[in-house]
Amino acid sequence: MSILDRIGHTPLVPLVRVGAGLPLPVLAKCEHMNPGGSVKDRIAKAIIDDAEARGVLRPGMTLVEATAGNTGMGLALVAAVRGYQLVCVMPEKMSVDKRIALAAVGARVVITANAPPSSPENFRNVARRMAEEHGWFLTDQFRNPANVRVHEQTTAAEILEQTHGRVGAFVVGAGTGGTISGVGRRLKAALPHVRIILADPVGSGLADWVETGSIGPDGTYAVEGIGGSEAPDNLHRDVIDGAERVADAEAFAMVKRLVREEGLLVGGSAGTNVVAALRVAARGNLDGPVVTLLPDGWDRYRAKPWMQDWTAEPAT
Ligand code: PMP
Repeated sequence: MSILDRIGHTPLVPLVRVGAGLPLPVLAKCEHMNPGGSVKDRIAKAIIDDAEARGVLRPGMTLVEATAGNTGMGLALVAAVRGYQLVCVMPEKMSVDKRIALAAVGARVVITANAPPSSPENFRNVARRMAEEHGWFLTDQFRNPANVRVHEQTTAAEILEQTHGRVGAFVVGAGTGGTISGVGRRLKAALPHVRIILADPVGSGLADWVETGSIGPDGTYAVEGIGGSEAPDNLHRDVIDGAERVADAEAFAMVKRLVREEGLLVGGSAGTNVVAALRVAARGNLDGPVVTLLPDGWDRYRAKPWMQDWTAEPAT
């Protein structure tokens, strides 16, 4: 038994207040309750298990990953339990709270500019280069098939069990695409009528890509961990039926409601996911409840202006 055995088996809770009055229930999978505080614990353990089983990763080696912070924290737990060193390459945009947390668990944190995928300074390119130069193991969450697989085998299986096999739609954002691709594939195999919908920040190009096959214009947005200007290998368009675009302000306003009205202590991408899920539920016409996912917890965003603003207001 180790802390890694507590990854997954997260609760699925109905959003009773923020979803009130809608024709369909909206259910949220509480991935912020994983031991490392995010959905990424699942893929961290799965990627390491897979690499150990294939014999490409041996005790004492160094792991390197390009991460918005959450995969880094998942990997840090696995590294602690299994005896690896960890290097996390993070874009500047990501919250300082995540940097502090990763450094505190003993990871080496390398910060890169917020550069596009075509730039050598982009965080993914920097991580790949460091792996090649030093002979480190690149966990490669954007391409590693173990990412999608663990969502098919665990996240989706849990959702099917928790809903007794009734899901009308699954709505979630994509960073690596592992969650939407893995859960989407398994749900579609089990439930022919289920709709898989991408929740995408306004400013990301992925919603256009889902709808037309070509990536949309590159913009900026503050929500972390989802969206982008390139479709990663682990984002499988064939399982996605549509997209909902959610502005930063709507997402952060929803996070505040989730915290204050539902007691769900979640981060920004949970707001994006829930806004999109409520829209899908409001349209009705589905064969069951709308399921969404709360990727991480609020403690990673304390220093961000959107959360600081809440405490600047007078108490009501
Ligand atoms: N939300 C947050 C906060 C994340 O860090 C991530 C992972 N980058 C996601 C959502 C998206 O998950 P996935 O990589 O499975 O698409």
